[in-house]
Amino acid sequence: MRPPVFRFAPSPNGYLHLGHAFSALLNADLARAGGGRLLLRIEDIDRSRCRPEYEQAIYEDLAWLGIDWEKPVRRQSEHFDAYRDALEKLRSLGLIYPTFESRGEIARMIAQQSNAQDWPCDPDGAPLYPGNRNAMSDAEREARVQAGEPYALRLDMASAIARVGAPSWSETGGGPTGETGSIAVQAWGDVTLARKDVPTSYHLSVVIDDALQGVTQVVRGQDLFWSTSVHRLLQALLDLPVPAYRHHRLILDDEGRKLSKSSRATALRALRAEGRTPADIRKMVGLASG
Ligand code: GLU
Repeated sequence: MRPPVFRFAPSPNGYLHLGHAFSALLNADLARAGGGRLLLRIEDIDRSRCRPEYEQAIYEDLAWLGIDWEKPVRRQSEHFDAYRDALEKLRSLGLIYPTFESRGEIARMIAQQSNAQDWPCDPDGAPLYPGNRNAMSDAEREARVQAGEPYALRLDMASAIARVGAPSWSETGGGPTGETGSIAVQAWGDVTLARKDVPTSYHLSVVIDDALQGVTQVVRGQDLFWSTSVHRLLQALLDLPVPAYRHHRLILDDEGRKLSKSSRATALRALRAEGRTPADIRKMVGLASG
């Protein structure tokens, strides 16, 4: 049997905090306990928010925690061609379409709806796309692309589900629905797969990379639980293998809020500067000593 393959996949857009430490340490512990491998992936598709010093800090902080990962590290910004190929496949299946609205235009479209006050949001809290594929002909969309207008690519959710069915996965962690995540992927609407300013998206890149890197165990925070429905749908559409999923509890601040990269108090480097040790960090996130 092949060893299980785990991964930790941070974005270098800030310093790692206790929540990242928990996720990285849990992946490392599980890999070690199961005789598995641990990969590190740098999720830096958004070049405007990612910085080399944050990437360097990720390496330093993880090494300080005593985590060992395989080299070379995969950096997503070096693989836009792989994401483009996947988009091309979805395009050839007739499942994605270009859209041209700005955020402001989308907000105005929503404001004009009769139910603007309680317009539905996706699981990430962003308002659902108020447009639809049939609002403009494919020929007109193509002409605008050819004319050089900036565009995003959206998944035609209804057609995607019609093709492969609503996805489910077996959840081994504490996801909000318990054992099995058979999820209303429709809640995402026509989700964006490539942005105007970035020629891919979190959902698409993560799915492609998990497959290309042979990841068999996705262990990540519960905040990404609902994203897994989109990931499973993309795997089905693109014929990719399906890893096992485990969504772990989040580390919260004193007010019960999810930690953010901007809150300095819980940044690993701040804790290190205060004299905390890696063993202290394990204790703070509720992991037994390593
Ligand atoms: N890059 C994502 C983050 O930093 C994690 C992606 C994943 O684990 O699937 O939140």
